[in-house]
Amino acid sequence: MDTLFFDKDCPLEAVVSLAEPRDVHGLNSAFLTILQEHISDRAVKVYEVINDFYSPTFKSSKCEPSLRLLIETQPDADMSDADLNEDDVQACIQNNTVVTGKSSFDDSERTIFPIPGLVKALGILVIEGRADQSCHNFLDPLLRIYSSHAFLLNRNEHDTLTGLYNRQALETKLCQIYHRDEIKQRKGDSKPVSWCLALLDLDHFKSVNDKFGHIYGDEVLIMFSQLLERCFRDDDMLFRYGGEEFVIVLKDVDITKAKSILNRFRKLVAETRFPQIGTMTASIGFCLLDTSQPIPVNIDNADRALYYSKNHGRNRISVYEELLEKGEITANKIEESNITVFPKQSVH
Ligand code: GH3
Ligand code: MG
Ligand code: MG
Repeated sequence: MDTLFFDKDCPLEAVVSLAEPRDVHGLNSAFLTILQEHISDRAVKVYEVINDFYSPTFKSSKCEPSLRLLIETQPDADMSDADLNEDDVQACIQNNTVVTGKSSFDDSERTIFPIPGLVKALGILVIEGRADQSCHNFLDPLLRIYSSHAFLLNRNEHDTLTGLYNRQALETKLCQIYHRDEIKQRKGDSKPVSWCLALLDLDHFKSVNDKFGHIYGDEVLIMFSQLLERCFRDDDMLFRYGGEEFVIVLKDVDITKAKSILNRFRKLVAETRFPQIGTMTASIGFCLLDTSQPIPVNIDNADRALYYSKNHGRNRISVYEELLEKGEITANKIEESNITVFPKQSVH
């Protein structure tokens, strides 16, 4: 394959479009558009490095770093993830430098650019073929801008202890769901995606801090988050809502399915050994996400189901709609006029 050729350096309008997005999703869409516009003849993939941390206290909770695909310009192209040579990828990430290598299956070349981080690369961009100087002139500045903007946006959206989305991101992500739902309904789509909103709270967590100290409490939160990340699908969204409270927004599930998925997770938590501490349990409450109701009403519905779980033995799961039907709780009476946060105000 010929080397790449760009007749101009990185255009200013591409730089501007990378600086504009307000969230990581928007940033990745902007980057995809730039890559498709300027590199149409070759497949490009962008990955982020995930799980690149380990716990100094609980050695056993180390997670293997891996790559998560963020962007692909030609999904049908013949460039599979397994193609990547692991040594080339590691050399690029560890040294923050461009590596040209061969596919692990055939002789075709791949150029791996780092998404530069302070010490190691935060991700990689893989492009078919060998990159010439003009390709470097184009991609090097773009990747630096992409990297620094992604870093800032990620820090805004994520909880620093666990790496999960934070509470602020929950509002943004729910607003996006509301927004997409509204568009679908306007277009007459009668079957919007069904979502469930679950609140999880570790049981008797305060006693971990009291007995073992705050650092061990933190480690339990990290391990619990890793269990969440391992068990839920990429389409489900995971948040640290507050201290030892977590939110899961489950995509495309009805009550029965959500209950079975969450119950499986609840059992897994109860069976997991947390080093030094022993076993922990979690209580769960969830509801169907009703986009005709304000966000705080939905959160309150899940919270009331969680409260029920807490008051009925803990280490159990309760469903808002089922409790309502059985008359265990009464319908939510939050007045819209008393709620200050409305989805439409927050949609960017
Ligand atoms: P329950 O079963 O009713 O949920 O009891 P609990 O002890 O889990 O709940 P409680 O609300 O009484 O205590 C929560 C504790 O979580 C108190 C607080 O100090 C601790 N906590 C909150 N944030 C953090 C954190 O970031 N790290 C640590 N280690 N502890 C935290
Ligand atoms: Mg608790
Ligand atoms: Mg709590």
